[in-house]
Amino acid sequence: MKKISLTCVECPLGCDITVELDGERVVSVAGNTCPRGEKYAKAEVVCPKRVLTTTVRLENGKMLPVKTNQPIEKSLTFNAMQRVSKVTVASPIKIGDVIVKDLYEGIDLVACANSD
Ligand code: SF4
Repeated sequence: MKKISLTCVECPLGCDITVELDGERVVSVAGNTCPRGEKYAKAEVVCPKRVLTTTVRLENGKMLPVKTNQPIEKSLTFNAMQRVSKVTVASPIKIGDVIVKDLYEGIDLVACANSD
């Protein structure tokens, strides 16, 4: 049996959560004060995900901040960054515009700022 301690990031309370694992199987979750914490903890120990935030190049040489519109598996981050590093986009771009459609499994890369 393995115990993993983590801090829930689902809200500002930041509950300290302990997850007990038997191999890949979650046996128990403790320390969370709401169901969101349990869901977060289970996902975090089995398949952690993060919103990818980075930049893409604009044709004018400037950089545009972008992010995925949903979290992607942490294990895919390196491949995603390789794909994103090859992207160049033309202005004008508006915040929320899709920069890369379906970067991974229906998850898009979207602009976090206007280009001009
Ligand atoms: S367990 Fe619930 S209350 Fe605690 S930090 Fe997570 S979301 Fe917030």
